[in-house]
Amino acid sequence: MIHDRSNIMVVLSSPSGVGKTTLAKKIDQNYQSFKISVSHTTRSPRSNEVNGVDYHFITQTEFKKLINDGKFYEHAKIFENFYGTLKKNVDETIKENDILFDIDWQGTKQLSKFKNLNLIKIFLITANKKELKNRLIKRNQNTKEDIEKRFKAFEEDIKHWKDYDYIIINEDIDACFNQIKNIIETHKREVIFFQTIQ
Ligand code: 5GP
Repeated sequence: MIHDRSNIMVVLSSPSGVGKTTLAKKIDQNYQSFKISVSHTTRSPRSNEVNGVDYHFITQTEFKKLINDGKFYEHAKIFENFYGTLKKNVDETIKENDILFDIDWQGTKQLSKFKNLNLIKIFLITANKKELKNRLIKRNQNTKEDIEKRFKAFEEDIKHWKDYDYIIINEDIDACFNQIKNIIETHKREVIFFQTIQ
């Protein structure tokens, strides 16, 4: 893979309902250089989701074929569905853009094994578990059963915070965004500096 070393890859992971999607959209809107990686999934689309924009929605058979053909950088089973990041999409996008990955801890672990990827790993958590459940309910995108599953997964998800470079507590979305901006801009400055001295 030819990787423009001045482009960076940011992984943003969090338990469901912590505000990751809102932050990913803010990054996308604020930085022309960033593209959000569009994953493949076997999950059914929600009413507000568009195929090819939010996800590439595919069948289990199609997903298994992509696994067998070695097409993924990473893939994981989450809440009974499969999610994965195609190598081809990442390798093409990184030539021109920075990439933001909205993936879970399992995917982050797998991506970390590719030492040629310039990854900055951010884990977003909430200080308030009660608030988390309210957000999942308010979001109105999941069935009751699904909300329970996602809420229970919180404990498992937060066990993996050590695999990340930065932990951010989302108490206020704007403060959180400012912290992410600082991280992004520091790393961009660093890679540009190292390029100029090479
Ligand atoms: P949702 O079903 O709410 O869209 O996503 C559920 C979880 O799957 C989220 O934590 C999200 O970050 C994660 N996810 C989305 N795409 C991928 C992917 O390509 N790989 C992995 N490992 N996780 C993903």
